Order: sequence, then structure tokens, then C-alpha cells
Amino acid sequence: MPTSVLISGAGLAGPALAYWLAHHGFEPAVVEAAPALRTGGSAVDYRGPVHLGLLTRMGILDQLREVQTHGTAMRFVDEHGRPTMQMPAGFAGGELEVRRGDLSRILAAASGDRTEWIFGDRVAALSELPDRVEVTFAGGSQRSFDLVIGADGVHSGVRRLAFGAESAYVRHLGYYLGGWAVPGCTGEGAGLNVPGKLASVGDGQAFIAFSSPAELSYDRRDPEAQKQIIRAQFAGLGWEVPRILAALDTAGDLYFDQICRVDITPWSTGRIALIGDAACGATLGGMGNGTALIAAYVLAGELATAGGDHRAAFARYERRLAGFARRAQKGGDTAGRFLAPRTASGLRLRNWLHNQNLIIRLTMRIATERATRIELPDYDLSAASAPRR
Ligand SMILES: Cc1cc2nc3c(=O)[nH]c(=O)nc-3n(C[C@H](O)[C@H](O)[C@H](O)COP(=O)(O)OP(=O)(O)OC[C@H]3O[C@@H](n4cnc5c(N)ncnc54)[C@H](O)[C@@H]3O)c2cc1C
Repeated sequence: MPTSVLISGAGLAGPALAYWLAHHGFEPAVVEAAPALRTGGSAVDYRGPVHLGLLTRMGILDQLREVQTHGTAMRFVDEHGRPTMQMPAGFAGGELEVRRGDLSRILAAASGDRTEWIFGDRVAALSELPDRVEVTFAGGSQRSFDLVIGADGVHSGVRRLAFGAESAYVRHLGYYLGGWAVPGCTGEGAGLNVPGKLASVGDGQAFIAFSSPAELSYDRRDPEAQKQIIRAQFAGLGWEVPRILAALDTAGDLYFDQICRVDITPWSTGRIALIGDAACGATLGGMGNGTALIAAYVLAGELATAGGDHRAAFARYERRLAGFARRAQKGGDTAGRFLAPRTASGLRLRNWLHNQNLIIRLTMRIATERATRIELPDYDLSAASAPRR
């Protein structure tokens, strides 16, 4: 029988891993807490030959190009609507920018019927035995798998069950982010900055960020509570903010989270391992999306070439990726301060610096360099076939 792998989370890392595991002859199943693939969130980007090369190998680059946004130039204004800073489309959009929802859909379709999809459920308990992992789902069913992978984001449930409370691994970086659909708004992006806050809109999406040095306490499964926090933060601001907040009332798939980073080592324990944001996330600016894509390729490839020795495969996967992921994560440390400097003088300095072409070009070069500094083995040449139980 093929090796069965339960992946928790159908964001970006989960479907990408399912694709590569199925490609190597494993039997992947993905369990996602949401009732369907999540459509929300703003655009995510890929840059450099490593990202684009993997998308080509997966056969989805052309499909992604069909739905790419081409990036959105951003215009920033102050409270009086006066322009303060301008960003070219390639700054945040990389070489290929797609909406997160489109990407998730295309990745999931790529592994298609070779993967079992379970929506609206989650892992409630894990019990590792010498030859398998017994999984109890919140919906009440029980099943066993050879391996379990946590691809369930920065607040991973698998990580909590297998490694302990997230307070030991997740560091709040002083800001919160939100994103939701604003129907009927097209074209160039624009954002209002006041000290410690950014409210922006463009290409059908609102995107907000605000400073909060202390962690906020709220129910992550309660979007209404999250909407209240956003309304309170942005109440009373002018420009387009009332229109952006009005769209929040009917927003179906709100994205709201702290900017944080995950530092955990090792990324595996026994038959359970982590991937994507669950292992090495930085909510924003840390190239989590590109790193997740690479990690999926490496983890599946190492498992396929390890002759059934999952411990060796997990260790090699982490060795190949940890340094690369840590360098990419660094971008997340300053993302909040870049989006919404806390003081008026900080805002003026950011605007001045980023209105210089040189700084923009340098920042883009550093991002591409961070996305490229990894050599990937060719697992198709070295893989005999997936281990069988
Ligand atoms: C709806 C949404 C919108 C986003 N929008 C943005 C954005 O605008 N900007 C940005 O920079 N980043 C955004 N992100 C984060 C970004 O997608 C990730 O940083 C990155 O792509 C790495 O992907 P990942 O698959 O590791 O994690 P994620 O993309 O976060 O995916 C994790 C998945 O696991 C699911 N999940 C969570 N807990 C459980 C559980 N216990 N059991 C089963 N499933 C679970 C989630 O619903 C989600 O589908 C968003 C994430 C989500 C879920």
C-alpha cells in the first residue's frame, strides 16, 4: 500500500505538498478547517528563477499567468489626500503576482483527484505509535496515517498538538493586518497613512495595517469580533476609509492576523512534521508563499528518496531549507514599520527614502536575491519510487 500522508491545511503549502506527494506515488489527504478553499487575502508574488522554475515543473505557470494581476502600482496619501509616496507595480508584485485565492484554487486543482480533500474538519488529537499516527478529527471520526504534516499556517493546530503551545514559537511583531473584498473597486492601488496606520484599496481588495505593540486578545474563529477591532482602529479617518469600512459589513472571507514570525526547531517530531508558515512563517514580507512552494518540493522529494526512512527525510528537508527560510523571514521583521511607521517623522523618513529610485531598486534586488539563494536537487532523477508500507 502507498504511504499515506495527512496534511492539515489547504492554504498554499498544503496543496503544493499534496501535488508533489501524489507525483511521487504517495497517498495524500488534506484536511482543511474552512468549509471550502479560502478565497480571501490580497495578492501574493513569486520572484526569481527558483520560484518560476518550480511553477513550470508543476505545469501551472501558464494558468497562473492567465490570472496574474501584473502587480498594482501604489500611491500613498496623507489625511488631506496629498500624495506622499509612490511605489511601482513590481515592488510588491515581484515577477508574477496572483490573488491568493486564485493560487490556492490552481494549486489544489493540480493535485486534483490524486488527493483526498476533507473540508470543514480539523485534527483534534494525535497519537503516535511506532508504525503510524492515530488521528482523531474534531468531527468525531478516527483514522490512521503513516505520516502527518502541519501545513495549517502561523497558528498551526498540528504544531500545538505535537510541539506544544504557540507562545513558545510565535513572536508578535507589533502590528496587525487585514484584507477583504471591496466590490466594484478597480485600478491603481492607493493608501492613506497616518502614524501607525495604513488603510488601502485597489484591485477589488482592501488592505489595512495598524500598530499594536501589545498582542490583542480576540477569538480567531469569530470574524465579527475581528471586524469590530478594525472598525475601532480606523473610525474617524477621512479619505476613502468610510467606503473601505462599509465593505467590511458584507465581507465574506476576512483575513485578519497579527504580523508575527514562527521560530521552531526541529520542524519534526517522530512521524509528524511542519511546513510553510507553521514551520517558519512571517505573516507578511517574509516570502512565506515562495518558501512554502520550495518546501513542498523538497519535503516530498526527500520522503520519496529516503526509502521509507521518514526521520532521515525530515532531517534532510530541514537542513536544506532552514537557512534559506530564515533569510527570507527577515523581510517580515520590518514589514509593519514599512507599511505604517508609528510617528509622523518616521512616516516622512519612509516616504523620502522610498521616493528614491535607488532604494526601491535595492529593496527589490535584495528580495529577489533572498528568493533565489537555494540549490534544489532533481528528485525525479534520483527517486526510484515512493516507499510502500
Ligand atoms: C484566508 C487567508 C488570507 C491570507 N491573506 C494574506 C494576505 O493578504 N497577505 C499575506 O501576506 N498573507 C496572507 N495570508 C498568509 C499567506 O497565505 C501565507 O503566509 C503563505 O502563503 C504560507 O502559506 P501556508 O499554506 O503555510 O499558510 P496559510 O496560507 O495561512 O494556510 C493555512 C491553512 O490552514 C487552515 N487551517 C488553519 N488551522 C487549521 C486547523 N487546525 N486544521 C485544518 N486547517 C487549518 C487555514 O484555514 C488555511 O487554509 C493569508 C492566509 C489566509 C488563510
